[in-house]
Amino acid sequence: MIRFGPSGNCEAFYEAGNKQTWQEPAWLKSLNLNAFEYSFGLGQFLSTETATKIAEEAKKNDVEVSVHAPYYINFVNMSDVAYENNFKFLLGSLKNLKELGGRHCVVHIGSQMKFTRVEALSNIKQNFTDFLKEKRQGEYADLILCPEAMGKYTQIGTYDEMFEICSWDDCLIPTLDFGHINCVLQGALKTKEDFKHILQKGIDKLGYEKMKDLHIHFSKIMYGAKGEIKHLTFEDTEFGPDYEPMIDAIIDLKLEPVVISESSGTQAPDAKTMRDYYYSRID
Ligand SMILES: [Zn+2]
Ligand SMILES: [Zn+2]
Repeated sequence: MIRFGPSGNCEAFYEAGNKQTWQEPAWLKSLNLNAFEYSFGLGQFLSTETATKIAEEAKKNDVEVSVHAPYYINFVNMSDVAYENNFKFLLGSLKNLKELGGRHCVVHIGSQMKFTRVEALSNIKQNFTDFLKEKRQGEYADLILCPEAMGKYTQIGTYDEMFEICSWDDCLIPTLDFGHINCVLQGALKTKEDFKHILQKGIDKLGYEKMKDLHIHFSKIMYGAKGEIKHLTFEDTEFGPDYEPMIDAIIDLKLEPVVISESSGTQAPDAKTMRDYYYSRID
């Protein structure tokens, strides 16, 4: 089943009088939304008590919760400190994800540092494979890691790099952040065929079943020569991408992703705009 929802608590959530994240699921249900992403971007995890309270509300209101692992993770970095931190931050994210009753954990795989692209990917293969080995034997074996397609050229990586990494293990499904991808492509993501081209490449590499369960991030993003600059709202008319061709491509390919809006401040209203457009096309 396709799902739509926001990343984090947006402005409208607070304007409606809500204060705590456990209030999100009921509020999202009132908007016909059914997904929510909780970000541990800066490394602050939830207490078991808070996560359990959010999980109860999420279950009651049929909202699927995903999490975003801390930004400090970098599988390219070969230092012992980075290696330990990667494990700590990713296992912490999976612990909370399990408590939240969710399935998808979004992760930024790493930045290129001083390495060539090929060397960087080889470092990732070494470090990330170690993590996957540990994950497979532990209590989080059933949870899905979703490496994210990034918006800056110094980051790993492109959607092709994410498809490659996701072919390494059954528990890996890509996060296609089409705002990021559009930055890296300098605004070339315009038509339904542009979106279908990328999604079909994923299906060819990873198979339909995996891609059907895809994680999507969507927002308009300002970009420059180095890629991503800042997230915008659907009000913006200068930068893309537009959501309509993305939704049309999803419908054509019969995918059932979790679609998370990462608009700047208007995540839930923009998620609802996408949701309403989707159902207007299939009814
Ligand atoms: Zn991200
Ligand atoms: Zn994203």
